[in-house]
Amino acid sequence: MDIKAMDKAYVANTYNRFPLQLVSGKGSVVKDEQGKEYIDLGTGIAVNTFGIADDVWQQAVTEQLSRLQHTSNLYYTEPCARLAQMLCERTGMKKVFFSNSGAEANECAIKVARKYAAEKKGSDYHTIVTLWNSFHGRTLTTLAATGQDVFHKDFQPLTTGFVHANANDLADVAAKVRENKTAAVMLEVVQGEGGVNALDKAFVQGVAELCRKEDILLICDEVQIGNGRSGKLYGYMHYDVQPDIVSTAKGLCGGLPLGATMMNEKTEAVLGFSDHGSTFGGNPVCCAGALSTVSRLDDTLLQGVTERSALIRKALEGKKGIKSVTGLGLMLGIETEKPAGEVIAKCMEKGVLVLSAHGKVRLLPALNIPMELLKKAVDILAEVCGE
Ligand SMILES: *Cc1c(COP(=O)(O)O)cnc(C)c1O
Repeated sequence: MDIKAMDKAYVANTYNRFPLQLVSGKGSVVKDEQGKEYIDLGTGIAVNTFGIADDVWQQAVTEQLSRLQHTSNLYYTEPCARLAQMLCERTGMKKVFFSNSGAEANECAIKVARKYAAEKKGSDYHTIVTLWNSFHGRTLTTLAATGQDVFHKDFQPLTTGFVHANANDLADVAAKVRENKTAAVMLEVVQGEGGVNALDKAFVQGVAELCRKEDILLICDEVQIGNGRSGKLYGYMHYDVQPDIVSTAKGLCGGLPLGATMMNEKTEAVLGFSDHGSTFGGNPVCCAGALSTVSRLDDTLLQGVTERSALIRKALEGKKGIKSVTGLGLMLGIETEKPAGEVIAKCMEKGVLVLSAHGKVRLLPALNIPMELLKKAVDILAEVCGE
């Protein structure tokens, strides 16, 4: 049996995989089982921050792997403590809870918001307002937070206490906050799965101000846009707001599962002993990878993200077959005249891997993809769109 057939026979049928088996790679070039090379503009959905088998990352991870791979959270380890310190110093947040995925990072954020509101105002103040078209994960609670009904229909009842408002509609958010006994507003400053749409600055600032006035928490889901992808360390930093809770995952470790929920001075003391936990969370190998990754996200690197973003926009905006380019930094959505699926298949044929999001073509390249390689890949994409 070949691998594709074996996978179809034995792996749960939840993924509509591309007809491509990947076996190895280096940087932004990945190879299939035939040895054919592809320029990777997807990075495993914004996970491989510095591409595949990056030397610095690999060394950080393998050194820790050869020393101590796991301890549980019953013991202290250096990578976990150092990573928490680095994240706090670079964001101004005060404490971090580590988990293994974006959904879990959001679950923790939701638990913190509920406990904060319960202690302050009473346990009936538990509603969390999120946005239509958002994506916050696949667990029953983060699905409830996700403002897209398509994901909900077969899995009722979901966790209660989530209400959705329209993105970029401050009056709607304010109405939802006031109609309900609300604990928090949770948003992605750039909606990823919802079609790579950056929220308006005035809207995000208005929500932050509303949260402050109503004494409710602002949660930023930075699972996809976080960790340098926007051109700043975290996406909210483009908006001049200070969230009370920041959740992140995907690109944090650069290729291994790690989630983080950061809490500020308002929320750092909410969780106490046994309020939350994770067996794998803060795993030393993942934390060593994240320490290496985050420490490289300096001004030069972030400037490079902005330059690469400009290169992509210049190569695509206004070109034949391309209606719009949305997003921020190296998280971009391309609205094409052809169906996105067709563009993706054609690009794959021509050796370029791109993703989709809500009918758009989505680009999430490595933050250090060489300029020439990026240019070559987006030129192929432009050609495919214009054919
Ligand atoms: C991917 C994603 C999640 C879920 O992350 P998992 O690691 O798949 O659980 C949550 N929020 C956003 C914004 C995401 O992009």
